Amino acid sequence: MESILVLTHADESGSALTKASLEAVTTARELAARLGAELTIGIVAANPQHLSKALQSAAPRLLAVSGEEFAQARFASDAAACEALCRAAMPTIVLAPQSSRFTRVMAAVAHRVGGVIDTHITAIGGAQSVEAARWFYRQRIEAVITRDQRPWFLLLDTGTHAPFVADPSQPHAQPDEIAITAVLPKLRTQVTGFRSPKVDQQTIRPDAKLLFVAGAGWTKKQPDGQTHVEEAANLITQFLSRSGASLGSSKSLVDQGGEGQSVLPFLTHLNQVGQTGSTPRHPKGLATCCHGEEPHVVGWRFIGERRAVSLDPNCGWTRGKADVVYIADAFAVIERVNALLGKKE
Ligand SMILES: Cc1cc2nc3c(=O)[nH]c(=O)nc-3n(C[C@H](O)[C@H](O)[C@H](O)COP(=O)(O)OP(=O)(O)OC[C@H]3O[C@@H](n4cnc5c(N)ncnc54)[C@H](O)[C@@H]3O)c2cc1C
Repeated sequence: MESILVLTHADESGSALTKASLEAVTTARELAARLGAELTIGIVAANPQHLSKALQSAAPRLLAVSGEEFAQARFASDAAACEALCRAAMPTIVLAPQSSRFTRVMAAVAHRVGGVIDTHITAIGGAQSVEAARWFYRQRIEAVITRDQRPWFLLLDTGTHAPFVADPSQPHAQPDEIAITAVLPKLRTQVTGFRSPKVDQQTIRPDAKLLFVAGAGWTKKQPDGQTHVEEAANLITQFLSRSGASLGSSKSLVDQGGEGQSVLPFLTHLNQVGQTGSTPRHPKGLATCCHGEEPHVVGWRFIGERRAVSLDPNCGWTRGKADVVYIADAFAVIERVNALLGKKE
């Protein structure tokens, strides 16, 4: 019989579990229910006692490692913590979020406990067996993996499951703390802080409800015969800051930078969506000044509701690739939308 351990960790503030961790809890609960397997949740955090409220009624057994060493991501302490949780729970299946923190350590943890690991798992099926699905070759091939080796570690892609929501009417169980100081190696790496872009400079936001795609049309000559790149940049950045949307781009637009043409300064190839770009997961998407060609639209595979603003009534979006297409000037539309969003602030 399988026994499942789901590993979770606190966010950077230390006051909550990450959304990806709570998504992993949902996946683990579904799998445990289907297999009739034992379920244990492991928490890595400085103060796990505060965090266990978010796991009320999630699993019969909670384990935790605690202490200031675990406040921040660091290979030596995180690997030791996850290893200790695995040795305490003795699971056959270990689920964990594919966060940068756990992605860095989990292959080593699997090796230390004699297990195997698969990454980027998007779904786990199987009635009496464990069948893990993941995509290969830029989301064109979906593979379903089964393995006999145990323990089997599965890192779960974020945005694939609903985050677990605690039931406050259930009793609140405190996690059993695992003593880890004896096995903790000498910590040579000191985390002195984070340097990250300001929130309004960070345009890729995987947790955003909306993907806003900017196409090459933003930098093309407009009906007055002129380009309006600066105006386009202002409209887009204002929309992003007012809506909280994540910024995607077509290949043509991000390529322009390399070709010496005017380009929006905040775009990089990391923003590119499509066949040779990313395949983000957002509930909604809005494409602007983008033609909706197939190599771009394949990157929208996981986007739920799709809308587009284009001047071209024959663009790809109007050919069944979007739910609603507004044949309109995106400069005028986004200016109006920004004004409406501004009133809400
Ligand atoms: C092997 C291969 C891989 C590729 N991979 C990718 C990929 O990963 N991602 C990707 O995006 N592309 C990819 N492409 C390129 C893709 O085929 C298209 O060339 C690209 O998506 C076009 O970008 P675009 O729609 O922004 O630009 P354009 O085709 O130039 O379209 C601009 C659109 O903006 C509209 N427009 C202009 N002004 C306005 C306005 N004021 N208001 C509203 N609309 C306006 C125009 O009507 C036009 O429809 C790939 C191509 C190949 C061959």
